[in-house]
Amino acid sequence: MKDKVMIVTGAAMGLGLAAAEEFAAKGADLLLVDYNGEALQEASHKIKAAFPQIKIESYVADVSKEEDVKGYVALALKAFGRIDGLYNNAGIEGRQAPLVDYDLEVFKRVVDINLMGVYLAMRHVIPVMQKQGYGRIVNVASVGGIRGVVNQTAYVATKHAVSGMTKNAAIEYAKDGILTNAIAPGAILTPMVAEAFKQVNPADPKAAETEYAQRNPVRALGQPKDVAKLVAFLISEDNGYVNGQTIAIDGGESNLY
Ligand code: NAD
Repeated sequence: MKDKVMIVTGAAMGLGLAAAEEFAAKGADLLLVDYNGEALQEASHKIKAAFPQIKIESYVADVSKEEDVKGYVALALKAFGRIDGLYNNAGIEGRQAPLVDYDLEVFKRVVDINLMGVYLAMRHVIPVMQKQGYGRIVNVASVGGIRGVVNQTAYVATKHAVSGMTKNAAIEYAKDGILTNAIAPGAILTPMVAEAFKQVNPADPKAAETEYAQRNPVRALGQPKDVAKLVAFLISEDNGYVNGQTIAIDGGESNLY
């Protein structure tokens, strides 16, 4: 990945940070994007300290706002002159509630970030990649993008949408050298998932985590590093022919349903 330029959204923690570290280890230059400015700065310092040889820019942006998306794309072009990979990772879970009781404002916010955020990034990055005749996009769906998850209607709806938009980008822009795929992680131990276990069992989130892990064929949650390695393949030139897929990385759990 030396001299390749990767944009990572939601880069301040969790899957985004792990992927940014993996890309940095492979020599890529990075534009880190997140709306949590403080955590973003910490992440940027951490990566710079570990990988002083690469160039890193960071940009505080809410991916659901088109002006912010235009802002980070403009910075990528100003700082690096090109965009080789887009890891469209920023997303939120929303709250857990049955479909009828779901808070409407939260529902709209989940749509704005998980669906519109992913769409807007592709809308503004794809023209850059078309001019280059090369690009790789990895969108983050979820196992909730290939099946239902009780009490998570907004999340499931938006993650299915991510998988759908991935198929469309794949068939519309592969002729321009742009391959687009999605990943569908199961439960990977990040701050978002830790928060979900708190909602499931506020008195003992660790018990909820252990119980959940026992249902997985490998009897464990995934680690952010596992996901980062899959993404590093899909977002690099090593991927020459995988296009339009939503690839589960869940220890095989989705095969149980
Ligand atoms: P996380 O909450 O640990 O990290 C998400 C990061 O995205 C945070 O730094 C947050 O500040 C940022 N972010 C959220 N909304 C944003 C916005 N509007 N603009 C800019 N930044 C924003 O979450 P995670 O577990 O690392 O999840 C990352 C992605 O992976 C999400 O799309 C999530 O739905 C998906 N996912 C995670 C899991 C899992 O098990 N962790 C499973 C399936 C899918």
